[in-house]
Formats: sequence, C-alpha cells, structure tokens
Amino acid sequence: MINESELLGQINGGLLINGEWRAASDGSTLKVHDPATGEVLKEVASASVEDGLAAIEAADQAFPAWSMTSPRSRAEILRRAFDLVIERRDQFALLMTIEMGKPLSEAQGEVTYGAEFLRWFSEEAVRVSGRYGSNPEGTGRMIVSKHPVGPAFLITPWNFPLAMATRKIAPAIAAGCTVVIKPAALTPLTTLYLAQVLEEAGLPAGVVNVINTSHSVDVSAAIIDHPALRKLSFTGSTAVGQQLMRQAANGVLRTSMELGGNAPFVVFEDADLDAAVEGALQAKFRNIGQACTAANRFIVARPLVGEFTERVTARVKEMHVGRGTEEGVTIGPLIDHRAVEKTLALVADATARGAELKIGGVAIPGPGSFLEPTVLTDIAPGSDILREEIFGPVLAVVPFDTEDEAVHLANATEYGLVSYVFTQDLARAQRLVETMQTGMMGLNTGLVSNAAAPFGGWKMSGLGREGGPEGIEEYLQTKYTLTANPFAS
Ligand code: NAD
Repeated sequence: MINESELLGQINGGLLINGEWRAASDGSTLKVHDPATGEVLKEVASASVEDGLAAIEAADQAFPAWSMTSPRSRAEILRRAFDLVIERRDQFALLMTIEMGKPLSEAQGEVTYGAEFLRWFSEEAVRVSGRYGSNPEGTGRMIVSKHPVGPAFLITPWNFPLAMATRKIAPAIAAGCTVVIKPAALTPLTTLYLAQVLEEAGLPAGVVNVINTSHSVDVSAAIIDHPALRKLSFTGSTAVGQQLMRQAANGVLRTSMELGGNAPFVVFEDADLDAAVEGALQAKFRNIGQACTAANRFIVARPLVGEFTERVTARVKEMHVGRGTEEGVTIGPLIDHRAVEKTLALVADATARGAELKIGGVAIPGPGSFLEPTVLTDIAPGSDILREEIFGPVLAVVPFDTEDEAVHLANATEYGLVSYVFTQDLARAQRLVETMQTGMMGLNTGLVSNAAAPFGGWKMSGLGREGGPEGIEEYLQTKYTLTANPFAS
C-alpha cells in the first residue's frame, strides 16, 4: 500500500508555465480537501490573471515548433506517457480517491479508462489525413489538408480528475496543438501529477501548461480574450458552458462543450431483469452518482416497477458507505456538503409531491460529506428530480405504460447526452435507436464510455466529441488548396 503523505509529497503544487514550476505571481494558494474527512491534503498555487496570461503566452510561443514536430514523435511521447501512467496506476488511483472521494476500485478503473486516451491518440496522431481530387471543371486539383487549430484552453471538472484531463490533452497534443489546462479547484492534484508524467515522457516546455486557480472566472476570461487562443474545450455544467460560449464568440473560437446530462434509463417489460438491475446499479451509483452519464430517471414498465425496485433496493442495502480507501467501500463521499444539501433538496421535493422513499434519503453526520444511497419510486410529474441533474446516489423510478409514453418521457428534457435502454425485442431496439434524442445510447448496458467512442451530447448537453477518430478532429482545422491544372484549356 502506498503511503498517502509520501505520495502527496511527490506532487509538485506549483503552476506549470513554459516548463517551469512556479508559485503564483501574487503568492496565492488554494487548499485541496479530502471530501471523506474534510482535512486539507495539500496547499497548491492559485494562479492570478497574470499567471493565466503567462500560460497562454507560453502555449503561443511553443506552438510553431510543436506543430511542426512529426506525428510519429508526438505519438511516441503520448505512448510513453501511457506506459508511465499504467506503471503508476496505484499512485494515480489513490490520488483520485483522496482528492475526489471515489472508491479505490473505481479509481483504478478510471486509470485504465483515462490512460487509454493517451494510447488511443498516440495511435490517431499518425492517422490524420486529408483528400485529393479534381474540381468539377477539371481546371484544377484540390488538396484538402488538416492543420492543428492552435493554442487551446482546456477546462475540466472535478468528477473524473484523470480521464477528463487525458481526454482533452491527448488529442490536442496529438494534433500538434499546445494547451493551457485549468483543472477544477477541488481536484487539481491528479492533473499536476499527470503533467509531471508528461514531462517525464519527453514533452517539451510550453506544450502543456497547468494553472490551478480559485479565481476561475477572471483567469479564464483573460485567457479566452487573449488573441493567441484558437480553441476552447470545456467539460462541466451547462450554465457555465453557455457563459463560456458567449465569451468565446468574441474571438470566434472553436469550442468543444461536454455539458450536463439527465440520462433516461428505460426498462421495457421484455427486458432481461437481471441485466437491467446490474446495468442500473452501474449507471446510477458509479462515481457516487456524480457522472454526467449517470442515469437520472429510471423509466420502468409498470408491471416491472415492484420487482425492479425491490431488487435494486436490496442491492443498495448491501452497499458500504465510507472513505474510498477503506476495504469494501462502494459509496464514497459526495464532493462537498453543498452537493449533499442539493441532493437532499431534490429528494425532499420528490417526497413532498408523493414519491415513496424506499431506502436512504439522509445525510451521514460529518466530518465527510456522505449521503446514504437512496431509492425513490412513484415520482410525480413535475418533480424537480426529473428535470435537474441529480449528481448524487439517488435512484428515482417513474412508471410507464406504452413505448410511445416511455420515449416521450425519456426525451422530455433539454439535455441529450446518453440514454440507456433495456429490451430483448430487436424491432423495438431498432426503433429506439431512431427515436432517443441522445448523442450516446447504451443498449442492454449501463456503461458506454470508452476511448474509441465519440463521447458527446445532443441538445444542451454540448457540442463536439471526445474520443474516437472524431476526438482529434476537434483540434484540427481544414485547408483547401487549389492547384491549377496546367493542361486545362
Ligand atoms: P462546473 O461547471 O461548476 O465547473 C467545471 C469547471 O469550470 C471547473 O474547472 C470550474 O472551476 C470551472 N468554472 C466554473 N465557472 C467558471 C467560469 N465562469 N469561467 C470559467 N471556468 C469556470 O461543473 P462541475 O461542478 O465541476 O462538474 C459537474 C458538471 O460537469 C455536471 O453538470 C456534469 O454533467 C458535467 N460533466 C459533463 C461531462 C461530459 O462529458 N458531458 C463530463 C463530466 C462532467
């Protein structure tokens, strides 16, 4: 077992700007807490606007040389970084568990998932291609080529500290872009550790710059307004994403937005109930319910509601709440006390409107921010829990009678990130692929994320895709060159 304080001692708590680890220009720091104990894990530098500007300028200066490196050399750096992250799997996992709260086994899973973006984009780096063709008149030949878009600003949330960083950094540097990354102030340690690994893998100074800050709004605004910036990639809430898109309009920046979700999980009467229960537990309670892909509304065929609810409730009863480092813990703390209060308010609204509380529904006294995993049934239409992203371990069941009603309920949200559908009827499944309004769909599975997939949403869940061959396109721009055909008359 790795010693926590030794591991924390290995993390450089500075800002990484132009290959140098620095304190903030005004000496500010921010404290990173363990959500399971409330204790301070480490104090790290908190960037000022001046530091943010230094970071984008470093990315700008590094861009011309980096964009001219060979795809193979960029691929090899990414591949070395993948090997190093896997070598340090236990360190990355422990770090995520203590700064974010997820159980250690889930943190190990995130290391596999997060590292895979480094390997995947090391493979994609050498596969960027364009096309060649004739214009219809035959007077010229067209060359269509792809070029890195330029310096990029990456803003990540706290819920998947490694995967959200690698899902943006890896395609950006594979494409030949340089970046400034701003991790969430609640969980900067994993990104700092990743930056150390990237340096070790041979990444030149200025290609990846890291700025932790407790002044997200001002520092981000200054970077977004900087004329050198060409790309903004954000993962977080829809409200913040909308604000950033407005700011990005000034510089007509390319944007990728991975925003909030309100995933429906639909269980039809013909579903394999064992598979649906397993899928439900995975889609709901992974990451303590704090995933944009978390199932938010369990839309269940009326004849199955009783058995489905009983079975998930029995499984929830067996869950162990505690600090993610402890043996057997399956539910860690929520990220902070505010998150507990917000989740409890959704439960209170639902029960006030007539929902039945099957289990849970209470906070566990501190110091950590723990909430008992919860199951609610018979959610009344109009309840807040159907409209808002829960972002906590609360499974809410709504009955339906017909397929049309199920689809209508599932699509009755401004979000469109992912949907889960459990059915054994092929014709029905084919209809649902056409009718569900989401960028991703899990058919008889409660987990869709993987590095080869184009992750992203429809409607207010976002713009652009991360992962897959699509992921690198977000960091490329197209140039078309017409060469005159010397033989055209
Ligand atoms: P958030 O929007 O509060 O914060 C996300 C990041 O933006 C953080 O780094 C934060 O410091 C920064 N930020 C906040 N306000 C800002 C501003 N005005 N200007 C610049 N930066 C600002 O979200 P969160 O609470 O950290 O994360 C949870 C949200 O993220 C949920 O809505 C979840 O669905 C979403 N999420 C989406 C995906 C996806 O891929 N679609 C993945 C993970 C999380």
